[in-house]
Amino acid sequence: MAVLCPECDSPIIVDTDEVDAGETIQCEECGTELEVVSVDPLEVTAIEEEGYDDEDHAVTLDEEDE
Ligand SMILES: [Zn+2]
Repeated sequence: MAVLCPECDSPIIVDTDEVDAGETIQCEECGTELEVVSVDPLEVTAIEEEGYDDEDHAVTLDEEDE
């Protein structure tokens, strides 16, 4: 099965017998690490190595507490 790299749009061949959701693969074209979000349908997301900023705000924000 193939999926398009979200970074460079190159097709990446993924053997869905070998990978599971949550595993990490790497785009051979641009070297971006991609996390397999799901295998059916095949979906990947780029792993940002830096700037994990505003993905979600599950962390308690206790500014403005006064
Ligand atoms: Zn790529």
